[in-house]
Amino acid sequence: MNKYPPKKLIKDIDSTDVQNFKVSFNSSTNVLSEGDEGYEKSIIRWADNAIKKAGIVVQATCLDDIVKTVKFASKNHLDFAVSCGGHSSSGTSSSEGGVVLDMRNLNKVRVDVEKKLIYAQGGALFGDVDNEAWKYGLATVGGVVDHTGIGGLTLGGGFGHLTGRHGLTIDNVVGATIVTADGEVKELSESKNKDLFWAIRGCGANFGVVYEFIYKAHEQKEVFAGVVVYPAEKLDTIIEAINIWLKNRRSENEGMAFVISRSPPENKPTIALLLFSNDPSEQVFRERYSVIYNCGEPIMEQVGCMPYPKLNTLANGFASFGDRKAMFNAHITHLDLSDIREAYNSYIKFTDENPTTSQSYLAFDLYGTEKFCSVPTDSTAFYPRKPFYNVVIVQRWLNEKDDKIVYDWAKKIQNIISNDEEKSLYVNFVDMSDDIGYNENRIKSTWGDNLEKLKELKGKYDPNVFFRKGAIIWP
Ligand SMILES: Cc1cc2nc3c(=O)[nH]c(=O)nc-3n(C[C@H](O)[C@H](O)[C@H](O)COP(=O)(O)OP(=O)(O)OC[C@H]3O[C@@H](n4cnc5c(N)ncnc54)[C@H](O)[C@@H]3O)c2cc1C
Repeated sequence: MNKYPPKKLIKDIDSTDVQNFKVSFNSSTNVLSEGDEGYEKSIIRWADNAIKKAGIVVQATCLDDIVKTVKFASKNHLDFAVSCGGHSSSGTSSSEGGVVLDMRNLNKVRVDVEKKLIYAQGGALFGDVDNEAWKYGLATVGGVVDHTGIGGLTLGGGFGHLTGRHGLTIDNVVGATIVTADGEVKELSESKNKDLFWAIRGCGANFGVVYEFIYKAHEQKEVFAGVVVYPAEKLDTIIEAINIWLKNRRSENEGMAFVISRSPPENKPTIALLLFSNDPSEQVFRERYSVIYNCGEPIMEQVGCMPYPKLNTLANGFASFGDRKAMFNAHITHLDLSDIREAYNSYIKFTDENPTTSQSYLAFDLYGTEKFCSVPTDSTAFYPRKPFYNVVIVQRWLNEKDDKIVYDWAKKIQNIISNDEEKSLYVNFVDMSDDIGYNENRIKSTWGDNLEKLKELKGKYDPNVFFRKGAIIWP
């Protein structure tokens, strides 16, 4: 890696060049430095530890802004980050002293109803996509929290409630417009720039800035869904019930996430279940989840028939901005009662001993696997196409001095829970920053046999490793 010189900061380059760059944009595009109105807001991220003092923030409003910014940062070897929803907790969409391309003003979404296609600019949030598509009774596969950005979520793969029926988000991407490290604009699809189109579907943040994604849209009815909460004493009974449900579920139409957390204000341990039936009928919902309800009366139940976009707001309560955060990932192939019990005990002990971490939680995403596993592993860059469920260890705490104890605890949980022998990982749920232990093994666990081809393509399209944030592919 020594042959790639370290990136420069804005303060390292000629101030006249910086000034000329700043004034070269039209008036609708803000180019912000520290002290400018709007600067502090522009560097806010989902996790406080991902907030960095950018040298310059360009709030792009058109494709040409992206091209100009990439060329300027690339030519000057500047540290460079792209920000969409800002949900990377390891700071991959931030830069300390370099250039941030803030995509949030590029958030237009347009639906071609006849062709059933959604055109979404690369700074949109999944809520923007859900809401626009829903006007026509359509949907695509997005995340389960509506304020995550389509940029990061799509480029890493994308799991959501519709994964059981339509696969990953990338399985529904039919085209994209991207700006590569040399500032070239390229259209990507199965027939244009096929190799890059392959690479961005699962490893995208390494290859360019996406100006626009084109998604397949599917007809979508209202759904019956909601959250039920049980006291933690029911943990074993509920896991057994979920295992029965998993055996019998219709994976195209049903999905569940269950979360071990503590409920404020008393911070009592609870098990929250987000139940989803892709059918507006309450009767169908109650029948399909009767095995869960047989565990006893929930302490809270909020379920109902709702428009599809509302489904992706139900988990927002677990996902507010603020505080220090990190996400670790484990893949499981089944719910092992003793592993989950051990993880639960560790969670309780750790959060009891460290009360400022009590908003941390463990989330188990039980979406149908058949559809995304039916796509060959080498047909996109996304590698782990095998029947697994994502577990996300979400760490939330207050003080920087606690970073290490929190990461160490989360790594322990990761090891307890993961029963996937190959120890694969999903890049969007992994913090790859150096202090957490970014290394070649993690990269292999993420891209497996696709890694060699990704390295070749990185060498071809980004030989100087201009895109150098997070899970980097070194050519
Ligand atoms: C609360 C929460 C809920 C989540 N839920 C889900 C879920 O349901 N399913 C799922 O699969 N994942 C989920 N994730 C993980 C999520 O996919 C990643 O955190 C993802 O990176 C977020 O994308 P972003 O655009 O919001 O983040 P950012 O921090 O803005 O970007 C993340 C990375 O993507 C790059 N990037 C962003 N936009 C572009 C673009 N237009 N062109 C090129 N590069 C770009 C950035 O440079 C950065 O490296 C969730 C994360 C959080 C925090």
